[in-house]
Amino acid sequence: MSARPDELGPSATALLGDGAYPESQVSYEGTTYWLERSVDGVKRLVAVADDESAFRGFAGTAKRVDGKVRFVAETTPENALALRSALPWLKPSRFGLHTSAGFGDRLGLATPGHVRALNAVGAAINPVFAQQSIREMGRCHRTPRDVLDDATWGAFQAGWTKPVGGDADHLEQLEDIDDTVAAGFVFYTLDPKAEVDPEAEHASPEAIQQKVTALDWIGLESDLPSFTKSYVGRRVALEHESIELDEQSVLRAMAKYGPSLAHALAMYRRLMEKGIDCEVEFAVDETDYPTTPAEHVVVVSELQRLGMDFVSFAPRFVGRFEKGVEYIGDINELQRDFEIHAQIARALGPYKLSMHSGSDKFSTYPLIAEATKGLLHLKTAGTSWAEALRVIANNDPDLMREVLALALDSFEVNRKSYHLSCDPTRIPTDPTDDEVAQLMDRVDSRQVLHVSYGAILDEFGTRMYQVWNDNEEEHYRIIADHFEQHLRPFAPYAR
Ligand SMILES: [Zn+2]
Repeated sequence: MSARPDELGPSATALLGDGAYPESQVSYEGTTYWLERSVDGVKRLVAVADDESAFRGFAGTAKRVDGKVRFVAETTPENALALRSALPWLKPSRFGLHTSAGFGDRLGLATPGHVRALNAVGAAINPVFAQQSIREMGRCHRTPRDVLDDATWGAFQAGWTKPVGGDADHLEQLEDIDDTVAAGFVFYTLDPKAEVDPEAEHASPEAIQQKVTALDWIGLESDLPSFTKSYVGRRVALEHESIELDEQSVLRAMAKYGPSLAHALAMYRRLMEKGIDCEVEFAVDETDYPTTPAEHVVVVSELQRLGMDFVSFAPRFVGRFEKGVEYIGDINELQRDFEIHAQIARALGPYKLSMHSGSDKFSTYPLIAEATKGLLHLKTAGTSWAEALRVIANNDPDLMREVLALALDSFEVNRKSYHLSCDPTRIPTDPTDDEVAQLMDRVDSRQVLHVSYGAILDEFGTRMYQVWNDNEEEHYRIIADHFEQHLRPFAPYAR
């Protein structure tokens, strides 16, 4: 993808109406496009061309003005698709081994803030604005297409003219592939965590032997003796050290991950059958125990043997990567973990190391940036939502009190499937305005609110979207400041 916009003509700004976003204005193949916002907050695409044929594929109204055709269109899914086709950089593309960052946006409002952060940092970090897991889409009542379309409008509004990615995140079922391919994603995160066997972590050698014997070796296109022969006693030479693969660690690795490999492979093959241009990440970051170096080697080598081509791998790192808060654990141990996993990724690939739940882990960024030398994907998901709540707290503290009360009430349900250490009893139940303003800075309330988005949006969505739409400039500024801190440490290594 090398399409670049045309230079804007000297009279281009004269076209803009009162509610226009000036930074959105862009010219390509003779047509000039921009986004306008009406007084009642509705956004519309406006475009000017010599001829009506420039708007083929769009649905809207065309009018002749001063010898040109002026076209106005609603921000519908149909027009988002037409816009991606008219401005090709807005259509998701693959980033390969280039440094990349994912910006999960549960609300579909944050992309202009993300763009500002990228522009402020100015490094070659490739953005994935459209990124949401199937689990989150369900809780937010969004379709894969909504995720993609919101990111398209946001990137367009903010004047982003470089490539974008599109991550169908944490796909666990075969059907997830069909739904997200239909929407137009290009990056597929395969997550077979339900098939990873946590018991293997502490099982006895006899139990491990039973587990590996019982694996579906036909599905894995191998057998236990061949598997054992190819790994036991092998030495994997890395840049600064080597890994010895002994029998116990190899068998334990296969007992733990073996069933998940077959499932991931089935998802991969389903994806390949679609014949689309795409790339794949293999993720086991949401499993119970850290991925050891030996496990990394066995898992990746087996996937490669089975013909899976992936651009990034997300191991489960040591320590705790909880939602929306700093890293919890021994930072020196984590640095060592980054270092060895990054060396393995270079030796067996190269492929990118992917860090999930990457939001707000400020102490870790310089370490993983250096360890991977930029061969990295950083994935953030809920922090944009958490930061958006500041806008509610700042502008409507009463609404924020209601939001908090619901989050506390529904916490035991919402916390399922998330790793958290918050204690809801430490959160004031009837906070003052000052306390409301600090809710997003305190670990307990930040995490409780972080995971309660589904329940909160179901109950208060309409009122909250009104506040965000009335205060969008403040929202973008908060998001931009927050993400600048995330991205800056990666700038020296971006490639
Ligand atoms: Zn993840």
